[in-house]
Amino acid sequence: MGDGNPVFERIALIGVGLIGSSIARAAKATGAARTIVATARSAKTRERVKQLKIADQVAETNAAAVKDADLVIVSIPVGASGEAAKEIAGSLKPGAIVSDVGSVKSAVIKDMAPHLPKGVHFVPAHPVAGTEFSGPDAGFAELFQNRWCILTPPAGTDNAAVEKLRRFWEAIGANVEVMDAVHHDLVLAITSHLPHLIAYNIVGTAADLETHTRSEVIKFSAGGFRDFTRIAASDPTMWRDIFLHNKDAVLEILSRFNNDLDQLVRAIRTSDGQTLFDTFTRTRAIRKSIIEVGQDTAEPDFGRRHASGEEVAIPRPYASD
Ligand code: NAP
Repeated sequence: MGDGNPVFERIALIGVGLIGSSIARAAKATGAARTIVATARSAKTRERVKQLKIADQVAETNAAAVKDADLVIVSIPVGASGEAAKEIAGSLKPGAIVSDVGSVKSAVIKDMAPHLPKGVHFVPAHPVAGTEFSGPDAGFAELFQNRWCILTPPAGTDNAAVEKLRRFWEAIGANVEVMDAVHHDLVLAITSHLPHLIAYNIVGTAADLETHTRSEVIKFSAGGFRDFTRIAASDPTMWRDIFLHNKDAVLEILSRFNNDLDQLVRAIRTSDGQTLFDTFTRTRAIRKSIIEVGQDTAEPDFGRRHASGEEVAIPRPYASD
């Protein structure tokens, strides 16, 4: 965590949903930024941000928000990031750092970088933290605590800009790793994108069952299905954009997944208990490792505490993405 001294004098947040509003809250709570300017696409969200008092100023347009900002963070669905870069390009302060929080990195770099002027440092980022909730009310200051934030600076990016952004994310509680964008997209395809696709598919299959069975699915959901429904409740726009913008990596991982699934199908069909047992033993060890590195706890997720310590109806934050 930071020492309370601002890492940036003035930051501009474009998009104030779960992630943007959590950055605003965390930057305010830790003092990582002296002044926070925010803007969002709709007047409704901008009004809500004013009511919540999570930013010092609310701007009407993206271009107005970034004026004089030392750091700009674009926190909107990845499919819209290129357009946002185009809108802010002419208003950026020379030497400013432009970043984002998109769950896909290669496509965002391809879409944003060509619009950004020389003299501005582009350092894409992805905080691997989230919940299935959206909008400015869903955010909270502790979201990034002990979660990873991956920076994917394109080759040739100014190292001082990368280090400054690292300090900002560390000040708001995250652990930071720097990675190549293509590698990021492959890793996240397996740890996040494929699990979401499976969840959307299994819950979709259940939704198509005839009414009587469907009510039983809901009633007996604690048998595993319930956990999938939490992931499958994630924002449809955000996830549509992730799959459309990380096609290659997702398709590569999906083909490996299908091969492994075929093996399990064969094992069930041929009553090959040893293969099933060996697979389930290996997967259990991965769960143990995740708990050991502090990315989850061993307690059952029902009735867990919110990161703030207060017990709430929603599950504690998980690395959804
Ligand atoms: P969110 O809660 O749904 O908020 C989205 C924000 O983007 C809102 O301010 C919304 O404005 C704005 N927006 C939506 N469509 C837009 C468009 N076409 N043009 C301009 N602005 C638009 O989303 P979020 O969960 O914060 O996700 C934001 C980004 O963070 C995404 O790129 C996502 O991949 C990434 N991310 C998400 C998670 C997660 O778990 N949720 C984790 C890490 C990274 P209005 O409210 O005015 O409509």
